[in-house]
Amino acid sequence: MVDVVAPDAGGIARAVAALRAGDLVAFPTETVYGLGADAMREDAVRAIFSAKGRPPDNPLIVHLADAAQVDRVVRSWTPLARRLAAAWWPGPLTLVLDASPDVPAVTTGGLATVAVRVPDHPVAQTLLREVDLPIAAPSANRSGRPSPTRADHVANDLGEGVAVVLDGGPCPVGVESTVVDARGDHPLILREGSITREHLGALDGSANRAARRASPGTRYRHYTPDCRVVVASPGDASQAATGLRDEGWRVGLVATVPAPDGVIELARFVDAAGLAQQFYAALRAAETAEVDVAVVEAVDEIGVGRAVMDRLRRAAAG
Ligand code: AMP
Ligand code: MG
Repeated sequence: MVDVVAPDAGGIARAVAALRAGDLVAFPTETVYGLGADAMREDAVRAIFSAKGRPPDNPLIVHLADAAQVDRVVRSWTPLARRLAAAWWPGPLTLVLDASPDVPAVTTGGLATVAVRVPDHPVAQTLLREVDLPIAAPSANRSGRPSPTRADHVANDLGEGVAVVLDGGPCPVGVESTVVDARGDHPLILREGSITREHLGALDGSANRAARRASPGTRYRHYTPDCRVVVASPGDASQAATGLRDEGWRVGLVATVPAPDGVIELARFVDAAGLAQQFYAALRAAETAEVDVAVVEAVDEIGVGRAVMDRLRRAAAG
């Protein structure tokens, strides 16, 4: 059995000991749960890839307690990275910078760059401060599965390979961090998240220069539960669900409206941030309820709505 523990002093001490021994520790961040290991130890990082079944060319985000620690893993800062870090750290923003030669290739997926982030979650902060090591941590799910936003999601996906799971309750943001290439003069968004291009543009005065380029991870199949996922237009979710129900399917609904008769309510939300927070848990609830089809109501693609619609479309394509 996986050891799921409270993030009290005893739990943190066990997690720190496991990380120092080169073992894996899952911990909550404000975005999703991370599967952490010492980023500078090749054997430890390899264990992350094998526990997740993650393709080796998909690099990991290195988590640090504060911006000063970033010097341990980057070759150099840029003025843009300094501005972004000052504005958004700790927070759900990952910066891609030139990697220090000390970072093992397994961590960076063989790239010359490294992704770094200072998370804004009390448990992640305490753990990173006490362990005092750069911690590589992708999402703590099996590769291709919905990301974990609760400790039981991690335990269900990963089992034995993880030494300790710190249970910090549900993650407040619910979608993964925004990934930005910060090596140039203007931010290039590699993956959408809750720090939006509007936020980055306001800081940088170049909202439309925040051109989109894909991050290695966005090539892979993602976020797919073992049922069909259908995207419904706002206002149309209830009707779409009833239509599928009448065809004889077992249907689940994630929407701003209550589930009609004979449809299982997987989650209710009021706005894009609410959908982001509940989205992955709702996909896992669809599996538990053994629905054939999960109908999810779309949100407007502004702000965090862009990140959640990106994840929703990928889930639906799976
Ligand atoms: P995950 O931690 O599972 O959310 O995945 C981390 C994301 O960050 C993936 O999409 C990676 O491809 C991306 N990433 C990590 N390191 C880099 C890097 N050096 N350059 C570009 N993208 C990166
Ligand atoms: Mg992931």
